[in-house]
Amino acid sequence: MRHTDGEDINAHITKMQGHRHDLVMMQRDIDNELFACYLRISMPSTWNYVFTALPDHYTSAKVEQRIRDEQGIRSSQSATSSAFQVSQSNKTKGAHSRTPIPGQPYCTNCKISGHHTKDCYSKGKPREKKEDKKDEKKEKAEKE
Ligand SMILES: [Zn+2]
Repeated sequence: MRHTDGEDINAHITKMQGHRHDLVMMQRDIDNELFACYLRISMPSTWNYVFTALPDHYTSAKVEQRIRDEQGIRSSQSATSSAFQVSQSNKTKGAHSRTPIPGQPYCTNCKISGHHTKDCYSKGKPREKKEDKKDEKKEKAEKE
């Protein structure tokens, strides 16, 4: 019985435990260390590094613990990356319009409607020293 990537880990462990239980029912119990070994080799090679920190003699509980820990890390990582993707796509959709809207202030600095250039919060905000240049731009924008 082997685990394949993408399969549910908890289901796999339960399956392995069920397998052991079957052996016990047949009066052919395997000792804990051997079961730990089975559990370990049932995992795909991508999991090898997870078990490298195990001591020479390990219990099945230790192997299970490592599998579950690693699974926790892997699932939280994928959750984080999908959440990141969602926030990225929200950003591209954007709440702000990129074109001037009549009756609404328009920022010539970041080319976004909804705030004035002087109230600009974008990172490309003009530096204080270029105050006169900014006013020039603003005047030009208002004329247009
Ligand atoms: Zn702006």
